[in-house]
Amino acid sequence: ASAAPLLTVRGLEAWYGESHVLHGIDLDVRSGEVVTLLGRNGAGKTTTLKSIMGMLPKRKGSVVFEGKELMHLPARHIAKAGIAICPEERGVFASLSVQENLMLPPKVRDGGLSVPQIFELFPNLKERLSSQGTKLSGGEQQMLAIGRILRTGANLLLLDEPTEGLAPVIVQQIGHTIARLKKEGFTIVLVEQNFHFASSVADRHYIVEQGRTVDMIENSELDANMDKLHAYLGV
Ligand code: ATP
Repeated sequence: ASAAPLLTVRGLEAWYGESHVLHGIDLDVRSGEVVTLLGRNGAGKTTTLKSIMGMLPKRKGSVVFEGKELMHLPARHIAKAGIAICPEERGVFASLSVQENLMLPPKVRDGGLSVPQIFELFPNLKERLSSQGTKLSGGEQQMLAIGRILRTGANLLLLDEPTEGLAPVIVQQIGHTIARLKKEGFTIVLVEQNFHFASSVADRHYIVEQGRTVDMIENSELDANMDKLHAYLGV
């Protein structure tokens, strides 16, 4: 990872209606890094990704991406700036084929991967080219959901619990995919409940508690911080 900060989040707050959910998120993500958000259920991890993406109407604070303040831009302009989100629910269209699903997102800027390039990254998907979304396994759906956002040309990928509900062997495949994307130069912010997975793919971990980032732990210093981490996560 280079030292250049790609994403800087300061004092990010967000609301669902009247409900004040994020109270102060601070993140620094360098180009080419994989960073996770860890924390208990309801801590605000998903909301952090959605807020960076501009999906919550009421927000406060600062989100600077490649030197540009995004806070007051609508989500489509944030996508154009080079950020894409892969939501927890994956959003695969059940009645469409793999190929059709891949054609859905618009290429919003230069550098978006072509469908053949996506198949090169996800050979399993190629074999399922004309299968309907409903016929795919959970792992295939997840790969399709990740593959799809690569079409947009984003260089910052926000992935919300990509391993959720998947068998260990598939989790491992997703891990290889993330490592490959990192090697290709993508920067990734990942919400993850699967702590072993998080430690196998990430450079650093931010701890989110009650809508605030309360700590940051380098992956290389994880072993020395296990007690602290267990206390944060309540495990
Ligand atoms: P989880 O792993 O359970 O998804 P999380 O850390 O991602 O946890 P969020 O989903 O960001 O947490 O939720 C943060 C808080 O916001 C929770 O208290 C949750 O109940 C609340 N919340 C989430 N989505 C909505 C919504 N659409 N409307 C109102 N409140 C919401």
